[in-house]
Amino acid sequence: MKINVLWTTMVTEAEQKAILSGVRQFVNALSIPKESIKVYGSSRFVKNGKVNSANNILANASRVGRLVESTNINKELMKEFKNEIVVLVTPRNLAGDGNYVFGYTSAPCSTISIGQFRRLDPFWRHWAIVSIVMHELGHTHGMACPDPKNKRKTIRYSYGYHCTNPGCIMRQSYGVNEFVNHVKDAIDKGRFFCPDCINEAITANRRKGWYQNPR
Ligand SMILES: [Zn+2]
Ligand SMILES: [Zn+2]
Repeated sequence: MKINVLWTTMVTEAEQKAILSGVRQFVNALSIPKESIKVYGSSRFVKNGKVNSANNILANASRVGRLVESTNINKELMKEFKNEIVVLVTPRNLAGDGNYVFGYTSAPCSTISIGQFRRLDPFWRHWAIVSIVMHELGHTHGMACPDPKNKRKTIRYSYGYHCTNPGCIMRQSYGVNEFVNHVKDAIDKGRFFCPDCINEAITANRRKGWYQNPR
């Protein structure tokens, strides 16, 4: 299963490094071969016989006021990448189903906004980007997703299903400060995902891609 990584031209070099670090730490955490990472960045690519790019996909997505609707971007990514996993990163502010969000996953595709992290100092900006990438990739791999075969008590619905275990990056955050606090917890614990979330992603992978077939 490929993990395709795209970003728009407004993403800085330091931010690109943080994005790639997040993707690499994610595949390490799950023992996914690093060869499955395919980095497109902001370059143009040909899929389905037409030229496309992260900028282009963003430009064509619908707007909710000044926000770009991420569900729209995810739909396009799904079409272009034929249900492979994709993360698209932009500094632009996003809506997810009309509401302001940091990132939005409609498995297997994620759109992530890093613009709100630019007010942080470089150290926390780096770790916030690493963490948001890991969080959204977690969603694409079935972390904190209700499973009838595994009735976990530490999942709660709060604008999407999220983990409630302390120090897990799959917790929900309603603002930059809350998110950075979760990142600090994760760094203190020396790991980003709790064992429950890791197990769910491994099970999801073992089922050979149930997340490849979103509704
Ligand atoms: Zn989430
Ligand atoms: Zn968790």
